[in-house]
Amino acid sequence: MITPLKLASKPTPIEFYTGVFPDFDFHIKRDDLTGLEGSGNKIRKLEYLLADAENNGSDLIITCGGIQSNHCRATMYCCAKLGWQGVCVVKGEKPKIAEGNLLLDFLFNAQVEFLPTAQYLHKEDYIAEMIDDFKKKGHKPYFIPTGGSNGIGALGYIFAMDEMAAYIDRHKIDAVFCAVGSGGTYAGLLMGKYQSSLAVPVYGVLVDETPAFFEAKIKSIIGETEKVLERKFPIRDTDIKLIDGYIGPGYGVPYDEEIAIIRQMARKGLILDPVYTGKTFFGMVDKKSELGFSNPLFIHTGGIFSVFAYPELKTQADFLK
Ligand SMILES: *Cc1c(COP(=O)(O)O)cnc(C)c1O
Repeated sequence: MITPLKLASKPTPIEFYTGVFPDFDFHIKRDDLTGLEGSGNKIRKLEYLLADAENNGSDLIITCGGIQSNHCRATMYCCAKLGWQGVCVVKGEKPKIAEGNLLLDFLFNAQVEFLPTAQYLHKEDYIAEMIDDFKKKGHKPYFIPTGGSNGIGALGYIFAMDEMAAYIDRHKIDAVFCAVGSGGTYAGLLMGKYQSSLAVPVYGVLVDETPAFFEAKIKSIIGETEKVLERKFPIRDTDIKLIDGYIGPGYGVPYDEEIAIIRQMARKGLILDPVYTGKTFFGMVDKKSELGFSNPLFIHTGGIFSVFAYPELKTQADFLK
């Protein structure tokens, strides 16, 4: 078993919202409040991943993601905090001005490598070479995959479910919702549901890829965690409840209904992000009658800094019209 590092502010609060929609109330697990610089879901995974890195004697972390990756930013933050070297391989050309998460990556003194989109598709080769080079220089690099989604990272969300279990029970929560971007959060929540003997359905709203892609990936993450923990989780295919149809034009591309709900919730004092939680929250509200729940718990997985990097939110803001 891996003893996690202490990097996140936990437990995060759960808030109850009433009067926002005419036909239902909801609860929000504020995992956007796991810290400031490290805010969001990734830091829960990093508590386990970086503990594993430490156990391996590593002090140089390599990871990858989009230019506005929350995962890269949270990882680079933890590296700065721990005094380790952080390297992230990001998809796309170097922008003229660093905004949002990328700005923070630079402030945390991360080594950021920009790979053109076509080359990023084969980033594994590039990263393997990088790892070799660092080894030749006497380093012990530790690689964390996209979103920290593997069998070790998912442990963070088994624990998160444990943190919510009593609340779910007491408040008779009848559905749990989270975004699915690389699958680790969802896989962890599903295993956590079994660990905590909860009957509540856990829905994952896709913000990228296809249901078939994520069904396979989630099963493979669960398989990895089973090896790490040396135990089995009796998860059936029907337990994996993925919701498609809310990606919009593509990963990281906001759309009108999403922006409208981000505005609506902001007026209630809650900021959703344009890449993950905006789409997922819209999906939850839109699927309400079809799925027939009435008292859901939405996991707010963070993403605050990308709000400052998306022109869709800036140019469409009412005060700019
Ligand atoms: C990464 C991320 C997600 C998705 O979590 P996965 O474990 O990658 O599926 C959701 N919300 C935010 C804000 C994220 O940064």
